[in-house]
Amino acid sequence: MSKNIDKYLHSEMDNAAGIVHSQKRTKIVATVGPACDTYEGLLNLVKAGVNVFRLNFSHGSHEDKKKIIEHIRNIIKNEPYNIAILADLQGPKLRVGELQDGRIELKSGDHFIFTIEKMVGTPEKIYVSYPNLATDVKLNERIFLDDGKMEVRVVEILNDKEVKVQVNLGGILLPKKGVNLPDTELSMPSMTEKDYTDLAFILEEKLDWVALSFVRKPNEIIELKRLIKEKDCMTKVIAKIEMPEALKNLREIIRESDGVMVARGDLGVEVPIEQVPVIQKDIIRKCMHRAKPVIVATQMMESMIDRTKPNRSEVSDVANAVLEGADAVMLSGETATGNYPTLVVETMSKIILGVESSVYDFNRDDILTPQPHSPSYLSDAICYSACKLANDAQADAIIGMTQSGYTAFMLSSYRPRSPLYIFSKEKTLINQLSLSWGVRPFYYAEEESLDDIIFDQIKILKNRGFINSGDVVINTGSTPVEDHLPTNIIKITKVD
Ligand code: PGA
Ligand code: MN
Repeated sequence: MSKNIDKYLHSEMDNAAGIVHSQKRTKIVATVGPACDTYEGLLNLVKAGVNVFRLNFSHGSHEDKKKIIEHIRNIIKNEPYNIAILADLQGPKLRVGELQDGRIELKSGDHFIFTIEKMVGTPEKIYVSYPNLATDVKLNERIFLDDGKMEVRVVEILNDKEVKVQVNLGGILLPKKGVNLPDTELSMPSMTEKDYTDLAFILEEKLDWVALSFVRKPNEIIELKRLIKEKDCMTKVIAKIEMPEALKNLREIIRESDGVMVARGDLGVEVPIEQVPVIQKDIIRKCMHRAKPVIVATQMMESMIDRTKPNRSEVSDVANAVLEGADAVMLSGETATGNYPTLVVETMSKIILGVESSVYDFNRDDILTPQPHSPSYLSDAICYSACKLANDAQADAIIGMTQSGYTAFMLSSYRPRSPLYIFSKEKTLINQLSLSWGVRPFYYAEEESLDDIIFDQIKILKNRGFINSGDVVINTGSTPVEDHLPTNIIKITKVD
């Protein structure tokens, strides 16, 4: 046993996930907004089951974000929970501008002009915040307004600033509503001026995860990672899949990212909506194969924004995401601006627990055996075998160690039935791993013999009530300890 073990037996050094929190294996991401942004409000959400808070950089000031970050960090300090912070960059979201009389009625069959010059919109001419509009679009391409509620078609490219369109599907257009160009190959950069300013703030604050909206190519992820590395930050990157082009490059985007979000809001506008459920399944499967955490997002519990009970279809949506093997399910307006933020999270937790405790199992058919051509084949094989052994021995715990996070993501990707505990000396990872399916992270920094390390970790878990005498546990680790090699051993122990 290590000399210093005592300090790990209390929660000053880290925050072992509270027992209630740790029962559910699928994680919850909740967007922070005025409905929940006080210390108490956020703490209530954590107690109800939130593992990751999402800060949406499409709204609010850096000052507001600073206060929220402080509250979350105080919760981590004061309470027995690990929580990750996910910063969501707005990306090149296209919008119309202000409108005359605050609204314009678009009638099917009518014509009007889109301009890239800022102006208050009139029924004849409306501003769009995309400088390359007239050079990117082609005749007959569709332009969607307000999440696809209205649809127009390009009938004439007038000059390099103006495009004439005809209304296919009319409606009432309100100011600042979103514009989507599903048919157009866009030449816009992946990050706007605002995104660069927001990223500087995010890296300054050392937030755990950053999500990039409207990703189209793997290079955009590579470049964002370069910017993060340049600032010596450990922030991990999530690619939001919400563009048809991203679907074409899906494999490469997943490979370059640390995690992925199925951003069904914009995705459902950009591709025919009936394709979204199958795309969701496909993205989840590919992410499990690559051991990358995947979040299912948008409208999961939408009706609970102003109601106390979810729709039956919403319950099924959350349950299906769990069965498909998603790492996390996300709440947006439900927690940010809704009337019942805590109740929504409580309800979502119950749905997750309901599925996870049922006889219906996670989809494990899609789990990929270790691939011999992978550069991490040997440690992948150890992780795979640890999960298989845990299953055969009906182990009460799998205990892994990681410095880069890789072993944790890998063990998690096999979606083991046994509870998964991960020890790391990297404090940033302890919170980052909150996003990962089934992972309960712990801080541990001793580097004596592997015997001591394994003994300590079992003792810590026993002392904190996660395992008991007589339990069977599987440890993974690496020897020689001082060489910090990828995971290379498995040990099975019957707890004293
Ligand atoms: P958003 O992303 O809420 O930032 O648009 C999620 C989505 O599009 O589903
Ligand atoms: Mn989006």
